Amino acid sequence: MKKYRLDVQGMTCAGCEEHIAIALEGIGAKEIQADFRKGKAVFALPEDMKVETAKKAIAEAKYQPGEAEEVQTSEAPRPDEEGEYDYIIIGSGGAAFSSAIEAVKQGAKVAMIERGTVGGTCVNIGCVPSKTLLRAGEINHLARNNPFIGLHTSADEVDLAQLVKQKEELVTDLRNKKYVDLIDDYGFELIKGEARFIDEYTIEVDGLKLSAKRFLIATGAAPAVPVISGLEEVDYLTSTTLLELKKVPKRLTVIGSGYIGVELGQLFHRLGSEVTLMQRSSRLFKEYDPEISEALTKALTEQGIRLVTGASYERIEQEGEVKKVYIEVDGQKRIIESDQLLIAAGRTPNTESLNLQAAGVKTGSLGEIRIDDYAKTTNERIYAAGDVTLGPQFVYVAAYQGRVAAGNAVGGQNEKLDLAIVPGVTFTAPAVATVGLTEIQAKENGYDVITSVLSLEAVPRAQVNRETTGVFKLVADAKTRQLLGGHIVAENAGDVIYAVALAVKFGLTIENLNETLAPYLTMAEGVKLAALTFDKDVSQLSCCAG
Ligand SMILES: Cc1cc2nc3c(=O)[nH]c(=O)nc-3n(C[C@H](O)[C@H](O)[C@H](O)COP(=O)(O)OP(=O)(O)OC[C@H]3O[C@@H](n4cnc5c(N)ncnc54)[C@H](O)[C@@H]3O)c2cc1C
Repeated sequence: MKKYRLDVQGMTCAGCEEHIAIALEGIGAKEIQADFRKGKAVFALPEDMKVETAKKAIAEAKYQPGEAEEVQTSEAPRPDEEGEYDYIIIGSGGAAFSSAIEAVKQGAKVAMIERGTVGGTCVNIGCVPSKTLLRAGEINHLARNNPFIGLHTSADEVDLAQLVKQKEELVTDLRNKKYVDLIDDYGFELIKGEARFIDEYTIEVDGLKLSAKRFLIATGAAPAVPVISGLEEVDYLTSTTLLELKKVPKRLTVIGSGYIGVELGQLFHRLGSEVTLMQRSSRLFKEYDPEISEALTKALTEQGIRLVTGASYERIEQEGEVKKVYIEVDGQKRIIESDQLLIAAGRTPNTESLNLQAAGVKTGSLGEIRIDDYAKTTNERIYAAGDVTLGPQFVYVAAYQGRVAAGNAVGGQNEKLDLAIVPGVTFTAPAVATVGLTEIQAKENGYDVITSVLSLEAVPRAQVNRETTGVFKLVADAKTRQLLGGHIVAENAGDVIYAVALAVKFGLTIENLNETLAPYLTMAEGVKLAALTFDKDVSQLSCCAG
C-alpha cells in the first residue's frame, strides 16, 4: 500500500469526513483519516492504484479534491493534541448512538470512536440489508409458488447483483439519515480508528491519546467461526459476505441454525438455491418450547429446505468450487456438497483489541464484557452496552442499554436495566416471535403453569391465506391467570407479538384478553383465540373470536 495526503475542499463537518471515508472505502482504500478542520484526507491505496482514482471517488461524493502528496510511513500523521472528554464511546452502532444522544442531552462533551463503517452492524450488515433482501425473496417466492389456483404468475431468474445494488443504496441512505447526519445534529465528535485502553482514563486511537471521565464500550460482536477440521482452508461465507453475493448459488449449505442462519438460509431458498440447514442440536430453536420448534421445522421442510439436526462435523474440504461437509448423524456418515457454505454459528464479542486488562474490565468465558444491572463493568468508570455484553442480540436492546448507560455514567442517574420482557423475532416465513417465559422456564421459576396451544389451522387469517402451518402458544400462571409468555409461529408474528409483550409486561390475565375485541381476519386475532383456548374448544365457535 502507498499512503497519500490529499487536500479536499467542501468538508464542513464530521459527517463530511464520514462521506469521504465511505467514498474511499468503496475503491479499496485503507487507513482513512479525513479531517474537515484541516481540509485534508490521509489514506493508503494499493501499490497499483493511482491517486487519481481516489480523487475521482471524492469528486463523485461531491467534494473537491486538490493537490496530493505521498506520505512516507515514518511520517504517518500523528495527532498533535490530546482530547479531554466527559464520555468516550467506543463503537458507532445502535448502542453507541443512543448513548451519545442521551449523553449530549445530559450536557456531556462526547467523542465516538469507530474503526469500521459508521452505524455498526444493524444498518450496514445486519437488520436492514437482511430484511430488505428477505422481502425481495418473499416476493420472488410468491411469484413462483402462488397458493391460489387460476392466478398465473412467473418469476425470472433473480438478478442478485441488481438486488444487492438496490440494497446498498438503501443502506447508504439509512446510514446517513439515522447515524452519520446525527453526529452534527447532536454535536459530538467522531474519531476514526481502532481504540485500545492504555489505562482506565485513557485510550489510544491510531497513536492519538484521548482521556475521558467515563467510557462506554459498545464494540458489538462478529460472526463466530467454529472449530471444524479443514474449515480454515475453505472459502466460506459469513452473514456479512453472503449479503454481498452477486449470483444466487445453485446449492447453499448453512452451518448453524440460529435466527441468522435460518433467515438467511430461507432467503436464498426463496431466491432459487437448494438449501441445507445443519446444526449440532437435535431440534431447531431448542431454547423455545417444542411446539415452536416443531411448527418451524414443519414449515421449512414443507417448503423444500433440507434440515439436518444432531450433526457432528468431522471435516470440511473444498474441491474446485465445491465445498464438502463430512458429518455423522445418528451413527450414519454423510457428505453434504454445495457451491457456497455459510457459517452462522453464533457471534463473538469484539473485545480482543481493546486491551481490557489495562482498564481493569473483566470479561466472561466467551470474551463478553460483564456488566451489572446499571450497565457498569467491573471498573466503575467504564460502562458497556449491546452485543459486546452477549445479552439478547437485538438492536433495540443495544440502544436501550446504551441510553441507560449514558444516563448513569454522565447524567447522575441510577437507572436499573430491565430486560425481563424482551420480544424476539425471527423473520422467516412463517415468522417466529416470542416474549416472556416459555413453559419450561415458567415451571423452573416455580409457577403453577397452564398453557394453551392453538394450531394455525384454527386461525381464520391463516385459513384465508392458505398458509396454516404454525402455532400460537400462551403460557399463564394457573393461580392468578396472568399471562407469563407468548410464542407464535405465523405470518406477521413479529407484529402480533407486541400485543403479547404489553399483556405480559402489564400483567394482563386470560380474562382481560378474552373480553377485548380482536379484529376479525387479522393474525392478531390468534392471540385472543389462543386465550379462549385455555377454557374452550375454539373450533366450536362461529365465525370469529366472539
Ligand atoms: C444478519 C443479521 C441480521 C440481524 N437482524 C436483526 C433484526 O432484524 N432486528 C434486530 O433487532 N437485530 C438484528 N440483528 C442484530 C443487531 O444487528 C445487533 O444486535 C446490533 O446491531 C448490535 O449493536 P451494537 O451497538 O451492540 O454493536 P454494532 O452495531 O456491532 O457496533 C459495534 C461497532 O464497534 C466497532 N468496533 C469494534 N471494536 C472497535 C474498536 N476497538 N475500536 C473502534 N471501534 C470498534 C465496530 O466496527 C462496529 O461498527 C441482526 C444481526 C445480523 C448479523
